[in-house]
Amino acid sequence: MRLVVSKFGGSSVASSEKIKHIVEIMRLDAGRRCIVLSAPGKGPGAGVKVTDLLIEAVNRALNRQGYAEPLAAVRERFSAIYGPLGLGAGALGEVLDDLDARLNSSANHPGKFRDLVVAAGEDINSRLFAAYLNTVGVKAKYVNPKEAGLTVTPIFGDAQPLPEAAANLAALKGVCADAVAVFPGFFGYTADGETATFSRGGSDLTGAILAEAVDADEYENWTDVDGIFSAHPLMVDSPKLISALTYKEMRELSYIGFNVLHEEAVRPVMRKKIPIRLRNANNIENKGTLIVSERLPGERDIVGIASGGGYCSFTLQKFLMNREKGFGRRLLSIFEEMNLSYEHCPSGVDNISVILDQGQLKPETVNSVIRAFDEKLAPDELKTEFGIAMVSVVGEGLTHKIGVLATAAGALSKAGVNIKMVNQGSSEISMIFGIDAADEKKAVNALYNEFF
Ligand code: ASP
Repeated sequence: MRLVVSKFGGSSVASSEKIKHIVEIMRLDAGRRCIVLSAPGKGPGAGVKVTDLLIEAVNRALNRQGYAEPLAAVRERFSAIYGPLGLGAGALGEVLDDLDARLNSSANHPGKFRDLVVAAGEDINSRLFAAYLNTVGVKAKYVNPKEAGLTVTPIFGDAQPLPEAAANLAALKGVCADAVAVFPGFFGYTADGETATFSRGGSDLTGAILAEAVDADEYENWTDVDGIFSAHPLMVDSPKLISALTYKEMRELSYIGFNVLHEEAVRPVMRKKIPIRLRNANNIENKGTLIVSERLPGERDIVGIASGGGYCSFTLQKFLMNREKGFGRRLLSIFEEMNLSYEHCPSGVDNISVILDQGQLKPETVNSVIRAFDEKLAPDELKTEFGIAMVSVVGEGLTHKIGVLATAAGALSKAGVNIKMVNQGSSEISMIFGIDAADEKKAVNALYNEFF
């Protein structure tokens, strides 16, 4: 039996029409028997996502303020979606009363309380959707993540699936053979039975875990964009849609600027080489972007140009640095001790730079880093720079291809873009240029025009 896990994001469940549309999509492929839902996002006449309304209710409850308003807004949202689809007040009320119960529970542990309430968006949506499917002749079953065994770490708001979750969830295959399984995204249960959510956008991760667990033929992720483009549409006019790329290429692209899928969602499917297909629920004619483990025949050498701003660099110069043992270790340990992660570390003979996401730094942290450099490394010179952008040429076809760097550097030079740094790992999947943030758009266009 072909089995597809189909995850529908917030925009795809935002109105009665969209819910009906999901049923149409399901009817087009009999394999779509494992459905993962987000909470309703922004939609016609609804400017706030249900998840954000729930967070607002939690914050008010924790501050001992009245939360009746956001609570009523959530109830209203679900009634407006499922009421016109024929779910009566009784059926709706029964599910929605669960919200009050969650908000009335103990808030002694704010993280636990937050997750319990916030997870209600996905949970209620899935219960109501399963009920609706049964009314339109599709045999469906809401699956409770606790009973199904989606176990997670007790990191509230940023839980991770436990290794045994996939094995626990394998039994879902049997459920899918008998009915369409409707599974709420975004949360699981700790060993103590507490609800814990993933980080924002985490329903993508739920879909990926289920795809791994049931050995899905494909993991479909339905949103409101056509897929992954070969450059960001805000940077380049009408960039080409990428029809297929590899997991690794997608990671390289998402690292700077392409956040189409939750970062952690690739890992579970990658383990079993299950293809991910990104689809646009508003444009079902379009086959979207397929993400696979190995390059497909006919795939372009270079699949995309990614970019992102907001980086900074610390550059140290020290005579005979290359002979000083442990220099690199001491340098990087300074960042580790300050709980800072670094992105790149290009070096010369007597100089080395560390590039970081500058969003992590406060002014006082910068001073502490500089002080630690002086104490532990005694550099001859130290230079800091902020407002750096990274532009990356990505494609597994870069491997062993001669002249790509020359072409890229030539295009940047013609466009008058100064290259501050070049970084190409020996895996040769991407080539990253550090440039002035003001040149980002110019650089992306120059590279896009050269390679596409
Ligand atoms: N509803 C959650 C959020 O808005 C999770 C998700 O949709 O994936 O982040």
